[in-house]
Amino acid sequence: MGNDLPDLTLLRRCWPSYSDDSSTHVVKVNGVEFGGPRPVIIAGPCAIESHDQAMGIARAVKKAGGQMLRGGVYKPRTNPYSFQGLGTDGLKILADVREQTGLGVVTEVMDPRLVEHVAEYADMLQIGSRSMHSFPLLTEVGKAKVPVLLKRGWSATLEEWICAAEYIAKEGNYNIVLCERGIRASCHWDYARNLLDLNVLEPLKRLTPLPVIVDPSHATGQWSLVANLSRAALAAGAHGLLIEVVDTEEARALLKCDAAQGIPPEVLEQIVAAARESESLSLP
Ligand code: PEP
Ligand code: MN
Repeated sequence: MGNDLPDLTLLRRCWPSYSDDSSTHVVKVNGVEFGGPRPVIIAGPCAIESHDQAMGIARAVKKAGGQMLRGGVYKPRTNPYSFQGLGTDGLKILADVREQTGLGVVTEVMDPRLVEHVAEYADMLQIGSRSMHSFPLLTEVGKAKVPVLLKRGWSATLEEWICAAEYIAKEGNYNIVLCERGIRASCHWDYARNLLDLNVLEPLKRLTPLPVIVDPSHATGQWSLVANLSRAALAAGAHGLLIEVVDTEEARALLKCDAAQGIPPEVLEQIVAAARESESLSLP
């Protein structure tokens, strides 16, 4: 498997500073290390909806032991009439929350023309599942030289995913963290939103030294499934998790985006504890 891949620089055998067949390229973001001995827990709301909401959740994330904050301000919505995100106002909220909590921030960029703008506020740029095939966008984030979180397209093969990452690396940006977030499959009776492909972690780590994290929130769409899949992802060797959080049930009722999948802060605490335990297993 993987022998049919062309000579991409991201493959271990072609990596610019090839050392061995198992080490991970550590991606540093605001003092946090992806691919180091500690799994990185990124948590936060699906979308930034207000200053109060973002600050409340960020404080809860920090208290629970999360190391980075997530929060979308440009939201990829299926329905064009759904809430699309707060845009620049949301970026300003993120900047303020970042300053007050010290948490590094990851947020999605969809439009190649906005890459520089978003990079002025964010520590890490997220490429969403729907944008994984957007080659002009990948090229722009490659040029921006800011760390990138590249989600897997929900129907992308392993090869297509690595080739998408190569578009970023081709511009000289090797600070890429891959994120498995579930692939499209028939989940009869709507028991889950997607199918979490933990099988992909091992071959991915064999083929490339890039760190890989898992998003159990978009994989399931239901918060009650998130804790167990987080543990499963860590056991399968994930270098971290990307998780959506909702701070109160009253707040959940008012959310405009992905309300059903945000976990309460107490569950995040349990996941952080499980991540600390998994460190001692020191999986490759
Ligand atoms: C998100 O992380 O908010 C998101 C939209 O995820 P995905 O691109 O995986 O659907
Ligand atoms: Mn979401």
